[in-house]
Amino acid sequence: MLFMDLCKVLARIEKTSKRLEMMSLFQEIFQSDPNELVEDDEPIHDKLIYLCQGKLHPDWHGMPELNMAKKMVLKATARAVGVSPSRITEILKKSGDLGNTMGYLKKKKQQSTLFGKEEPMTITTTWNELERIANATGENSQSKKMRILSGILARCSPLEAKYIGRFIESKMRLGMADLTMIDAISRIFASDDEQQKECKAILERGYNIYPDLGTIVKKAFIEGMKSIKQISPVFGIPIRPMLAQRLEASAGFIDKHGGSFAAEYKLDGERLQIHKDGKDIILFSRRLENITNQFPDAIRLIQDCIKPVQAILDAEIVAINPETGKIDTFQVLMQRKRKHDIAAFMQEVPIRIYIFDAMMLDGRSLLEEPYLKRREIVENSIDDEKCDGNIVAVEQSIINNHDELIAFFERAIMEGTEGLVTKSIAPDSTYQPGARGWLWIKLKSLADGKLPDTLDLAIIGVNWGEGRRAGRFGSFFLGAMNHETGNLEMITKVSSGITDELADILYNDLNTVEDIPPNVISVEQPDKWVIPTMIVEIAGDQVTSSDGSTTGFSIRFPRILRLRKDKKIEDISTVDDIKQMA
Ligand code: ATP
Repeated sequence: MLFMDLCKVLARIEKTSKRLEMMSLFQEIFQSDPNELVEDDEPIHDKLIYLCQGKLHPDWHGMPELNMAKKMVLKATARAVGVSPSRITEILKKSGDLGNTMGYLKKKKQQSTLFGKEEPMTITTTWNELERIANATGENSQSKKMRILSGILARCSPLEAKYIGRFIESKMRLGMADLTMIDAISRIFASDDEQQKECKAILERGYNIYPDLGTIVKKAFIEGMKSIKQISPVFGIPIRPMLAQRLEASAGFIDKHGGSFAAEYKLDGERLQIHKDGKDIILFSRRLENITNQFPDAIRLIQDCIKPVQAILDAEIVAINPETGKIDTFQVLMQRKRKHDIAAFMQEVPIRIYIFDAMMLDGRSLLEEPYLKRREIVENSIDDEKCDGNIVAVEQSIINNHDELIAFFERAIMEGTEGLVTKSIAPDSTYQPGARGWLWIKLKSLADGKLPDTLDLAIIGVNWGEGRRAGRFGSFFLGAMNHETGNLEMITKVSSGITDELADILYNDLNTVEDIPPNVISVEQPDKWVIPTMIVEIAGDQVTSSDGSTTGFSIRFPRILRLRKDKKIEDISTVDDIKQMA
């Protein structure tokens, strides 16, 4: 298949805001002539998916990314289109979109030359060339990358240049999240609504256990839907973490859980997915990044203290104050992560691992086992004598009524935790990868009148500050994710909770632009728009209705608590989450 043919479909997808139309266009790509979907004897379904996602491999893969310095991207473009890097910077500043800028420049170049040097590229050549950029390492790697990119740009058409630019920024701006792509693919395998729902559930489950959409889609087409049904946890492949719903303390936890339930301390550290196979240990973050190298001390502890030969465990890693032996804050753990010399810092900030779930034991999937069985496996997996309290099963209690819940919550807070995560103990209390259902419910605050949970929102715009904040940003426009469209919709403005340190970070790191970014929706206009990459956690008093927002909601008394560097834009609070709190 020609890359140009893919780009034409992407351009049509980008033009529509109708979800069904988007999906049917996306299906067209995979319903092409079967010969088009094989190149050099290899099916190309995976490469098509990766190109649509704006990546070469799934994020957790650990393979090199494009990693091109902005200066080199400008230089490569300048070479290919014959315009100076400073002029390109000007155009880019205005549009805030590298893809549009490259497409525009390429078109101008085309108009000024009689014969273009365009040579058609297939999906495989495009992917291979991009992979070549990623793999250029060693001395002068940036110059090598620059030369390859300028070669690609020289041979491609304006439309292809646009999507190459988007790919470089890892933002295809199609308005299609992975789950929408799955929905679209499931329609190809089904002949009626019932079957489509079933196929979608199978694909989603497969993707949640093996979060590599390219591989899942290729497997479904080549080996059939049955092979997707058989996917189970594998050492080295991160499972999408199970997530919790939220409720206010006064709400009926007993009713929601359908009777007695388990409550566990909610530790305020970093989520850690532990993969163990003999002496081999891999650690994944909440975002499924491989963070093995950040915790050499954790690796040693796991090697010594986790009894099963093979296991996948869900845990929280926290910093410990070496003087008091008590749990330290999330910020202290993050400080440690920022240090280059981790070895020295390991003494100053020791860690403790709290295990709360088990997804695989000696090659056997535990996903379908009920909570109590998995909890028993967690407890039996830890060698208490060897680990000296450095790896523990998270504190847990079975709760039978409201008073017991409140008493356990208060104990949890006294011990320096964030509250509780309550967990169903019903026979169907399975581990549900990637799901935010009611089997797990978090309880963070007893105070009435406050939101039952904090929100993680993306900064989409800024207003200049006054007085003490003159010359810096004074307030921030925050957006929540509309999970159907993938757009970020303005939900509130915040100016409280900004420490001087945070003000500096935001001033230096936010990428401001003149025009509203394509995936942002806001009725109100800030002094500057922001390319949404930074996420802040906010607390608020109430969700109120608001005519000034496309969501119909706003937040009363919002205040920033901290930056959330551990979350991706796809993981921020959704408009639906906020609606639920109204
Ligand atoms: P979420 O992870 O639900 O999107 P979040 O990242 O904002 O939300 P919280 O809302 O604070 O985090 O709560 C969920 C997180 O709490 C989990 O992702 C996990 O890292 C952490 N956690 C701490 N203790 C537990 C526990 N006992 N069981 C499950 N999760 C726990």
